[in-house]
Amino acid sequence: MELVVATRNKKKLKEIKEILRIRGLRFSSLADFAKMPRIIENGRTFRENAVKKAVKIARATGKFTLGEDSGLCIDALHGAPGIYSSRFSGKNKSDLQNNLKVLRLLEGLPLKKRKAHYVCAVALADKEGLVGVVEGRCNGLIAFEMRGTSGFGYDPLFLIPKYKKTFAELGERIKHKMSHRYRALEKARKIIQKIIERHRSS
Ligand code: IMP
Repeated sequence: MELVVATRNKKKLKEIKEILRIRGLRFSSLADFAKMPRIIENGRTFRENAVKKAVKIARATGKFTLGEDSGLCIDALHGAPGIYSSRFSGKNKSDLQNNLKVLRLLEGLPLKKRKAHYVCAVALADKEGLVGVVEGRCNGLIAFEMRGTSGFGYDPLFLIPKYKKTFAELGERIKHKMSHRYRALEKARKIIQKIIERHRSS
């Protein structure tokens, strides 16, 4: 069975494929289709944006689709950047500029005031509409400087207290066992497996 991942973000797609290994499931993404509708991420929550991505692309392709929306929420910034994580430093966003903006805004704050969490919402849809939506969360702290080279986005700043290392230092093997994306996809896995079984017996 084919699962379309409604994203053009190559790093996110790579993580989703690595975490969601299911026998009999093939992945495609927006890059595999010539013309796809533009998705305007104007939802008020991660959930709303994930649902929008999944439903719109499932309708356009006629195929089973996964929509994912995620981001970083920092307590001291009242939950920002949140759903604006990818464009926190403006339209011509870069991960580096986003990270530098976070460091600037948190300057002078001690570690205990640097609490943050990642959120990942995953929605599943087929051509008839929404099938399910789940969420995962991962708690951490914002480091005082960028550390490590693995992962993407805010990973060089996202410190896991248990390891005293950032996700970018810890690497994929550990990140993919505890991240917000892993936690959301483990819930999504159950829904996908049921659909595969139904698909096989029909
Ligand atoms: P989206 O593509 O609109 O869902 O944007 C997600 C943004 O949130 C990314 O561009 C990153 O800035 C941030 N983000 C989400 N998940 C992660 C992660 O696992 N590591 C680092 N940054 C992340």
